[in-house]
Amino acid sequence: MKLTVVGCSGSAPGPRSAASCYLVEHEGFRLLLDLGNGAFGALQGLADPDSIDAVYLSHLHADHCLDVAPFVVWHRYSGRATKKQIPLYAPVAAERRLALAYDAGGEGITDVFDFVPVGPGAFTLGPFEVALARTAHPIECYAIRLTAGGRSMVYTGDTGPSERVVELARGADVLLAEAAHPPGGDLPAGLHLTGREAGEHAAAAGVGRLLLTHIPAWVDEIGQLFAASAVFSETELVRSGATYEI
Ligand SMILES: [Zn+2]
Ligand SMILES: [Zn+2]
Repeated sequence: MKLTVVGCSGSAPGPRSAASCYLVEHEGFRLLLDLGNGAFGALQGLADPDSIDAVYLSHLHADHCLDVAPFVVWHRYSGRATKKQIPLYAPVAAERRLALAYDAGGEGITDVFDFVPVGPGAFTLGPFEVALARTAHPIECYAIRLTAGGRSMVYTGDTGPSERVVELARGADVLLAEAAHPPGGDLPAGLHLTGREAGEHAAAAGVGRLLLTHIPAWVDEIGQLFAASAVFSETELVRSGATYEI
């Protein structure tokens, strides 16, 4: 598998990155994980939008899904789209919510996307074996495990501390984990991980490598990296445009 970071800014687009979006490729199949604000711009510098075979949305917070709207605009009006309908895997409310975000009127956006509602469990998506687990987040959100060619990666989506996420990530080669919360302060439970908690999840799951992401522009990313590295040494910060062979 090849992972490309399209956008990694946490909770909102930042000055150096769009919000959450990751491209995962295997055997010529191209899957997008999330399409947060600003990500469609960065995506065009990394891949032809017409080459995207499927989209997965972890949840329907703006920083993970709103660039479905420019994707629809491009698909309808660029004259470069050849694919008829792109499968879009997302929590059940996605079709209505994203049509409203686009202000699509009665016609919706099903000319571009074939909505596939997801829940906890396993299924096959192109060349990937997929498993999903509900995270600790105020709205329905699923962490995703992708396995292909004997390798595996897990993307947490947004989550607070979660045993289900640790179980999903058990033995994975790569854990792409959010670390949005700075240490200390009054942190709401069941929302995001601190850097240290991301490291603890990686250690508890026994993963090969931890990639820290979803750090907001207003949080000290080096502090998050140090906190995670203190409990799990194979840790690095992702950057927009970075690629990883998994
Ligand atoms: Zn988020
Ligand atoms: Zn969220």
